[in-house]
Amino acid sequence: MRINRRTIAITGLRDIIERRIPVLVASSHQSGPVVCLTACLHGDEVGGTAIVHDVFAHLRQHGLRRGTVYAYPLVNSMGFENASRYITSDGEDLNRCFPGDARGSLGHRIARRLFDTIVQASPDLVIDLHNDWIRSVPYLLLDPPGEYRNKALYRRVLELARGTGVLLVEDSDVFDRHCNTLAGALIAEGVAAFTLEAGGSFAVVEEGVAEGARAVLSTLAMLGMIEGGLPAVAPPANDTPLRYTDQPLCTTSGLARFAVSPGEEIAAGQLLATVYSAFGSTEEQIRASGPGFVLGVEDHARVLPGRAVVAIAEHA
Ligand SMILES: [Zn+2]
Repeated sequence: MRINRRTIAITGLRDIIERRIPVLVASSHQSGPVVCLTACLHGDEVGGTAIVHDVFAHLRQHGLRRGTVYAYPLVNSMGFENASRYITSDGEDLNRCFPGDARGSLGHRIARRLFDTIVQASPDLVIDLHNDWIRSVPYLLLDPPGEYRNKALYRRVLELARGTGVLLVEDSDVFDRHCNTLAGALIAEGVAAFTLEAGGSFAVVEEGVAEGARAVLSTLAMLGMIEGGLPAVAPPANDTPLRYTDQPLCTTSGLARFAVSPGEEIAAGQLLATVYSAFGSTEEQIRASGPGFVLGVEDHARVLPGRAVVAIAEHA
């Protein structure tokens, strides 16, 4: 097995120096599946970068039996430098710019360059590594069944997703449509892809990184790219994906105090959060609309009307 480092040139930015996206490539002497890992499309979601480092450390030590792993460990270097989700020079959300446009805005140009590079490698699977609210549990986000070109692609994505052993959650149709995410654009192109939310943003959360790295290695083992014994292919966390929701949204503004924690099972009607005025009177009680599982709670105590405060995986 060989590991190469290279870069993809992207457009120049405020420092007038050409920016580059780093690429790590692990190639086996045996041909086989191609897997792409992308990380830090959101510049404050740094856990995926550490997951790539840990996966490649494992490959260096144990080798790659067949196939190729491409990793893009730090896609949004501008956001990373500023600890920001966005491409900070123009405030764009890169993961809402796919498949991109070579003559469009900066975000669309970067998206197009990355998208074309990934698609040219004809990947069997693309895992886009992200991080969620600071207080959140790892989960795997799938595009809803209606987004896939055909049933075979959906079945393949579901099979690969189950192989990660991570809790499976499906975007709602409403949430995902025209969202222009990398995974969504790849699915539309007929490429198997999903998003892995590996715990909290901003700092490297080691528990999330460990679960994310284990999930990636489990998938590589499932594809026969690394030895199946260690790490073993993980048993699926749940066979049927749960449904992502951020409802009910907050309808008032104030200071939120949460009654639930990430990882907690909840019942319909259960109190999720109470919003207080500056004087301490109750403005609103936010309650679960159905039974489910708390994925994460909002980072900020200050909440506003129309804003999501809790992410929930609802039982179908
Ligand atoms: Zn993200």
